Amino acid sequence: MASTLIRGGTVVNADAAVRADVLIRDGVVAALGAGTDDWSADHVVDAEGMLVMPGGIDAHTHLEYPVDGFTTRTADDFHSGTVAAAHGGTTTVLDFVKKEPERSLLDTYRSRRDVAAAKSVVDFGLHAIVPPREQQPDVLDDLRKLAGEGATSWKFFMAYPGTQMVDDGELLEGFELALEHGVLPMVHAENGHMIARETQRLLADGRTAEVFHATAHGHDAEAEAVHRAVVLAESVGTPLYVVHVSSAAAADEISRARAAGARVWGETCPQYLAVAYEDYADLGEKAAAYLCSPPIRERGNQEGLWRSLVTGAMSTVATDHAGFCLHQPEDLPPQKLRSPGYFPKVPNGVPGIEDRLMVLWETGVASGRFDACRFVDLVSTRPAKLFGMFPHKGAVAVGADADLLVWDPAADHVISAAGSHMRTDYNLYEGMRVTGRPVRVFSRGEQLVGPDGSFDGAAGRGRFLTRGKPQLH
Ligand code: MN
Ligand code: MN
Repeated sequence: MASTLIRGGTVVNADAAVRADVLIRDGVVAALGAGTDDWSADHVVDAEGMLVMPGGIDAHTHLEYPVDGFTTRTADDFHSGTVAAAHGGTTTVLDFVKKEPERSLLDTYRSRRDVAAAKSVVDFGLHAIVPPREQQPDVLDDLRKLAGEGATSWKFFMAYPGTQMVDDGELLEGFELALEHGVLPMVHAENGHMIARETQRLLADGRTAEVFHATAHGHDAEAEAVHRAVVLAESVGTPLYVVHVSSAAAADEISRARAAGARVWGETCPQYLAVAYEDYADLGEKAAAYLCSPPIRERGNQEGLWRSLVTGAMSTVATDHAGFCLHQPEDLPPQKLRSPGYFPKVPNGVPGIEDRLMVLWETGVASGRFDACRFVDLVSTRPAKLFGMFPHKGAVAVGADADLLVWDPAADHVISAAGSHMRTDYNLYEGMRVTGRPVRVFSRGEQLVGPDGSFDGAAGRGRFLTRGKPQLH
């Protein structure tokens, strides 16, 4: 494999930023420092004025993902989704496995792994979603096997009663098994009963329009579930990861728990930081484009979330990428506008796998909220540690996979649906001007994206990651 020397850049890791050259050989970082004169390489990249960072790790994606009782699926498959990820500087994605009807969780996991392996252009791993026990009475046996097959993170739903929601007893039992196997439990923390009750009340009042989705998913329902998950995890003694924290009130729960010594980590997403309810409140049925759970909340909620990133109460930024098109393509099952005017049937989820780094850089680093090291920790290093991939991923370090970004901190780029690679026909950040973007993206030493936007990487080159135990500090 060709060797590459990235010369003259500033290497940014979570703990420090230093001027250094990076030598890539055999897919890994072979040397780091100021040894340019002795180092020879097949290719030399001039990175003067650029930052060199570890590739982004998106710990929360839903590619070709079945939703709403397997009646539809997200628009991007593992190919288009990972190509888009790479263009945005993300070189590892962690997706989910939802047990299919008539199939065990383990069988579903293995077949989804094979599908993803045939299509992905970047490395990927899979979290297992723990179904309610009634859907698979022997699911704990499968979970034990999954821990040994690289699924060292399991997700539990506290929402969606009747389909995915597990009760507190199942949570406790699952948390205990996770602890026993060195697995990190993850929760979608919203109180499913509160949301169901509020939804019924809204529908009875005829308030069925898209925008009422946000009313149905209250701040209190999220904060309650976060609090309960933390208490249950503490009682078992397991660490806990809370996905997609959207409400500042829920972030406060995590902040308090961490201050009291709880081992809990929170994830938030760009759509909760940089988009607001006010952006879609008046869009009528097109508000469907913004519907996800938990919902994109009021603008006044954003500052509390930002504070949680700055103080360290929140630990990662992932996308929850689950894109659906507004206009119905012929080759996809019903997308966003399957039931205009009736929010309970709008497929939940928003796109963002390609936008995450640029949006967080612009709104977090360029705007002066935190520095480039904190940025790298949020989008790469912390997820690598929590999900058992560090130090192979998540750092620019000798011996680590050469998943690297050459990042231009003085770019001038406007985000648009037309200029991106996701299959969705709209973009939440349409028209946002950003000053930081990846100009070269390497995955295990191979340049996938070049400065002119060219892409070179075959479907199936991405490797399945058999992940290890979570690293908690
Ligand atoms: Mn969720
Ligand atoms: Mn999700």
